[in-house]
Amino acid sequence: MPVIVTKKAGTCTADGCGGRILKGEYVEYSAATGTRHLECANAAQGMRPNLRAGTCRCGAAVAPRQGTLTLKESVRRGRRRKVWLVSCRQCPSLGGG
Ligand SMILES: [Zn+2]
Ligand SMILES: [Zn+2]
Repeated sequence: MPVIVTKKAGTCTADGCGGRILKGEYVEYSAATGTRHLECANAAQGMRPNLRAGTCRCGAAVAPRQGTLTLKESVRRGRRRKVWLVSCRQCPSLGGG
């Protein structure tokens, strides 16, 4: 994952951290995991809350911040697309499948 300098303050996405990331701080960044402290780069993936309402694959409506997001890459007509899928609390996240 690339190291970037943050342009705005944020939150570390590493499991068990969740600490503040300050503007101008060096962090690890990827689209799938978001921003992390350098020392947290190898930590397990934390829960990434959904900021918008969505629908889980089980059909349940998921209110904002009540579920988790999982990044899926799909290929359609040779083009890669990144799609964020919402999972409700009852369903395990879609990672590792
Ligand atoms: Zn951290
Ligand atoms: Zn569900």
